Amino acid sequence: MSKVLVFTETTDDNVKSVTLEILGKLTGQEVDVACIGNLPEAGAKALAEHGAANIHKISGAGLEQYSPEGYSKALKTVIDNGGYDYVMAGSTSLGKDLMPRLAGSLDAGMASEVTNFTMDGGTFSGTRPLFAGKVLAKVELDGPKPHFVTVRPNALGMPDSPSAGAGNTNDVNADVGEIRAAIKEIVKGASEKVDLTEANIIISGGRAMKNAENFKILDECAEVIGATVGASRAAVDSGYAPHAMQVGQTGKTVAPSLYIACGISGAIQHLAGMRTSKVIVAINTDPDAPIFTKADYGIVGDLFKIVPILTEEFKKMM
Ligand SMILES: Cc1cc2nc3c(=O)[nH]c(=O)nc-3n(C[C@H](O)[C@H](O)[C@H](O)COP(=O)(O)OP(=O)(O)OC[C@H]3O[C@@H](n4cnc5c(N)ncnc54)[C@H](O)[C@@H]3O)c2cc1C
Repeated sequence: MSKVLVFTETTDDNVKSVTLEILGKLTGQEVDVACIGNLPEAGAKALAEHGAANIHKISGAGLEQYSPEGYSKALKTVIDNGGYDYVMAGSTSLGKDLMPRLAGSLDAGMASEVTNFTMDGGTFSGTRPLFAGKVLAKVELDGPKPHFVTVRPNALGMPDSPSAGAGNTNDVNADVGEIRAAIKEIVKGASEKVDLTEANIIISGGRAMKNAENFKILDECAEVIGATVGASRAAVDSGYAPHAMQVGQTGKTVAPSLYIACGISGAIQHLAGMRTSKVIVAINTDPDAPIFTKADYGIVGDLFKIVPILTEEFKKMM
């Protein structure tokens, strides 16, 4: 059995779902969770239901906003006193920034963005996609502990029957001292919807959208089916959508249950970001578009005709 600390990010009313995915995989290990700032009641309950023995709620001056320096110092106060074998977190924008910094400062091994892992006998072994998902590497860690692991959101899936933990909350006051590079303000993007990396359904538009205004047909469809809207790099580079919406090698890596690609050709760099989606639907006028080789369902046709029809049909089903 290993002792594992899982760092969780919180939302306004819960914890990020990737945390619960990770906890589901840690059944049989001794698991604590750490968060910084406010932990909503529903989040604390979910953590306990998914196996957290202790929940360290860290607060202190300088931790009101995320900063890599402040958060890493704060989390280190819990790590230093916990005797942990592993520290895990979601491979979110924040997790990808924070965890390598911590691992580096402790000279510890790290497995980044794994899509699956086992803990046989308490020893971590992970799977990590390389070369735009063309190769799956098996990752094992050695050297001084704790070892650090980030896990791609939506890759593990939610546990069917999680085993509960005591969920004892422990308030930790961290003195992070002076923070040299502080984030003054975080401005939310235009979309208030679920972050792409956590979304269960994504509908993305490519160069074929022609302009930013046309993305509203994807917004309308997304509204009906509870999807988040994404974009290809061609759409982003053309100014139709902000970079935060970009899916792919130089954008976000996503693994939703359903990915609907509208007017996207299926370049390798786009596929790198969405090929692990559970079900892929492609709408494209070109029957030879590479996206169809990866799609579970393909519709050859004009997205400007197909998407509004789909939206109307989805409305009837809701
Ligand atoms: C280093 C590097 C990193 C990159 N990173 C990324 C990345 O992160 N994400 C990414 O997406 N790309 C990335 N790219 C770019 C990538 O190579 C492609 O250029 C890009 O994905 C193409 O976007 P697209 O499919 O929207 O456009 P296109 O390739 O131009 O495809 C448009 C598609 O729309 C179809 N179409 C046209 N009209 C309609 C219509 N009315 N209805 C339906 N279909 C229609 C066409 O048949 C075509 O298949 C990267 C490239 C490089 C070199």
